[in-house]
Amino acid sequence: MKGHADYHMHTCLCGHGSGTVEEYVLAGIEAGLDEVGFSEHIPMYWLPPDERDPGVAMREEEWEGYVTSVLAARERYAEISVRLGVEADYIPGREADLERLLAPYPWDYVYGSVHFIGGWGFDNPDYKHQYDEWDVDDLYERYFGLMCEAAHTGIFDVMAHLDVIKKWGHRPARSPLELYDRVAKQLQQAGVVVEANTAGYRKPVGELYPAPALLQALVRHGVSLTLGSDAHAPGEVASGFREAVAELQAAGCRSVVRFGMRKRVEVPLDVKSGAAL
Ligand code: ZN
Ligand code: FE
Ligand code: FE
Ligand code: ZN
Repeated sequence: MKGHADYHMHTCLCGHGSGTVEEYVLAGIEAGLDEVGFSEHIPMYWLPPDERDPGVAMREEEWEGYVTSVLAARERYAEISVRLGVEADYIPGREADLERLLAPYPWDYVYGSVHFIGGWGFDNPDYKHQYDEWDVDDLYERYFGLMCEAAHTGIFDVMAHLDVIKKWGHRPARSPLELYDRVAKQLQQAGVVVEANTAGYRKPVGELYPAPALLQALVRHGVSLTLGSDAHAPGEVASGFREAVAELQAAGCRSVVRFGMRKRVEVPLDVKSGAAL
């Protein structure tokens, strides 16, 4: 998709992805992108080192090397701009540890994610069965409550896969419209950007994160959006972007956001082609 940026790319460093930084950059060039950004999973800073799952995130010893390899790719490729980002878990009460880890490096953007509810990694296939212990309506309230709390910490620029709680297809019994409206309003007040994440298309739920009604609520409240594939293999870079841009436009979105050194710029979408201008 012409002119677009994919801000959500992982690498083999996270322990559940494949491909090197260079392979993702080349895939971005191949896909005709203007810009790519890496957002590898931050080390599991809230756990003691011996309790961190090497299949979930990079090890702390790899942290500096990650930054160095992204910055080196930026120097090497003139045909595409390469952004340095990170996907950082929000763990209530651990904000200071997170800020310490982030402080030394020149981030273009920091994604905030909720992958854990009270220690339960709900989006991990190994722990999916624990959904059975929840009332789905209560679970949605709890999950989105954490998202909004995360947004208000001021640590994150973009909220990643906003409704990933639906990943396995668990849907609330009640209409979520009132919840979506509340969430959109709070995110707008927090001043964060929200990611349109195309990994949802590839998961059991088979739907963009965020869902159409949530996307509409965000646009209605004036929340800005970015695009990300959440690629865990080079072949997934920019996957689903055409459909996602069409969904954004159908929801009334007229621009997407680009980041440089945590400053944002709105880039208009071409009404006809959906290209970022
Ligand atoms: Zn991942
Ligand atoms: Fe994630
Ligand atoms: Fe991710
Ligand atoms: Zn992700």
